[in-house]
Amino acid sequence: MTRELFRDDATLEECAAAVSRVNDRGGIVLDQTVFYPTGGGQPGDSGVLVLEDGVEIAIATTVKDRETGEIVHVPAEGQEPPAPGAKVTARINMDLRRRRMRAHTAMHLMCALVPFPVTGGQVGDDGGRLDFAIDDPDAVNREDLTEKLNVMIARNHPVNIAYISEEELDANPEMVRTMSVKPPRGAGTIRVVEIGENGEIDRQPCGGTHVSATGEIGAVEVTKIEKKGRMNRRIRFRLV
Ligand SMILES: [Zn+2]
Repeated sequence: MTRELFRDDATLEECAAAVSRVNDRGGIVLDQTVFYPTGGGQPGDSGVLVLEDGVEIAIATTVKDRETGEIVHVPAEGQEPPAPGAKVTARINMDLRRRRMRAHTAMHLMCALVPFPVTGGQVGDDGGRLDFAIDDPDAVNREDLTEKLNVMIARNHPVNIAYISEEELDANPEMVRTMSVKPPRGAGTIRVVEIGENGEIDRQPCGGTHVSATGEIGAVEVTKIEKKGRMNRRIRFRLV
């Protein structure tokens, strides 16, 4: 299986890698990668694979193969696939990834400030959205939430990755904020994101990429709170 270097260090822009195989649709599997595959509401990374002779293969996006679980680098139209065994430098579009990391981390803070179950979410390139099951239409105010988010961001809380046992998660089911997304099981440990000392701001299972302190998010603005059905509110925000 591909070593997922982005899990423990989301700041890595590139790594050396070897091509493990090219699947029948031209998707490229590497022995290790810094490319995050689409998942958890965060889009897959784009970037380039640079061959030893300097030839660049443009990667349009990265996905996780549903059947094999492999991380597949999807080349842009018209790219010549590399030979298995070829050595490459795998380099992501860091500017885009950094914006997604900022937006994704801001969504954790929103989770901390909006005490309702999460029903969905999507990280965008300049912001994002989170859906909540909110039964009280007056529970969330746009200006108020914007202000509280920016205060939390400015306090520059540390963002850390920790691992807990499946038993610990079973004993604390309230840690799972997104009702529809269950953390992956079977590996024995669950990856947890902790914001603030000992996760005092937010602590929940998450496989995504995050900035290392909330100050890196920069200012945000809640742009819209939409009604999505009787019980659902969609909160949109942008990176300012
Ligand atoms: Zn996360």
